[in-house]
Amino acid sequence: MIVLGFESSCDETGVAVASAGRGLLAHALHSQIDMHREYGGVVPELASRDHIRRILPLARQALEGAGLSLAEVDAVAYTAGPGLAGALLVGASVAQAIAWARDLPAIPIHHLEGHLLSPLLAEPRPAFPFVALLVSGGHTQLMRVDGVGRYALLGETLDDAAGEAFDKTAKLLGLGYPGGPALARLAESGDAGRFDLPRPKLHSPDLDFSFSGLKTAVLTRMKQIDAADAQARADLAAATQDAIVSVLVAKAAKALAQTGLQRLVVAGGVGANRLLRRRLAAALAPLGGAAFFPPLELCTDNGAMIAFAAALRLRAGLADPSLRRASFTVRPRWDLEQAGDPAR
Ligand code: ATP
Ligand code: MG
Ligand code: FE
Repeated sequence: MIVLGFESSCDETGVAVASAGRGLLAHALHSQIDMHREYGGVVPELASRDHIRRILPLARQALEGAGLSLAEVDAVAYTAGPGLAGALLVGASVAQAIAWARDLPAIPIHHLEGHLLSPLLAEPRPAFPFVALLVSGGHTQLMRVDGVGRYALLGETLDDAAGEAFDKTAKLLGLGYPGGPALARLAESGDAGRFDLPRPKLHSPDLDFSFSGLKTAVLTRMKQIDAADAQARADLAAATQDAIVSVLVAKAAKALAQTGLQRLVVAGGVGANRLLRRRLAAALAPLGGAAFFPPLELCTDNGAMIAFAAALRLRAGLADPSLRRASFTVRPRWDLEQAGDPAR
């Protein structure tokens, strides 16, 4: 089954063509980062309008890239949540309109399910069951994954997400938006040992996280250093990255130990972080475990993960290919354990 998938939950418009057996056939992506940069964050109304401008040209581009026409598509998929309501509605409306016009099923996909299954687009493909570490701009969760659609929450952040912690501390350091990649870059020339930052919940027995205290700690250190001291700022960036990554690695290893599983799948934008990748590989090797990541360009939001998740759902019998909808809905807030039909 060939699936045409749409992602528009936040500030990336993504369209892709994928199948369960062949994986990704083509994808087209437009990031709105440059547009939102001058505001220091995503402006929801601007995001919705830009999705409207970009989505059809990107759909044409994805189909062309796959060498397919719309007549060869078997199903349409779209991110139905969580995310910005207006932005979600753009992808949902376009997908539903195409499905209605071509008499195709339209499959609503949970955005985090897309992230979570995206490491299956890389080689080697991790086999089920595995533990997933979802680290994105809005979420930090550890999930036990027994198969497509079988997700059990093991732990999550009690306040800020890991990506949010990167973004907020980057802002304090005067770095651009989005802060994660900028902070990681600055950290490369810094000494992580110079500042001792808190590692919240590092030794707690649960699998939860807490990152909101980190930005206060960074703010305090900022006041102690000279803002013009480039080395001090790099050292602080390195210490911040080290603190976030240390907690993520420790909790991921703890989740593997508690579940008795050996495979860890990392998904979401923070999964692009090189220190996280290195530290996880080093921490899991002695435990006989292994970490799996999506292809680097598919760590942040994209249409590929949505088309692919729908294709896997169809193959697993978790989406009805004969279903035609009279109406549809989006869910700005939505628990992954309830992934499936957002209307239910
Ligand atoms: P969600 O998926 O929870 O709705 P989102 O879609 O905004 O949130 P993603 O697109 O998956 O999140 O990831 C974006 C986040 O990843 C941002 O917070 C960004 O700073 C962070 N990020 C991206 N690259 C890196 C990196 N190299 N190091 C650290 N953080 C990074
Ligand atoms: Mg984004
Ligand atoms: Fe995302």
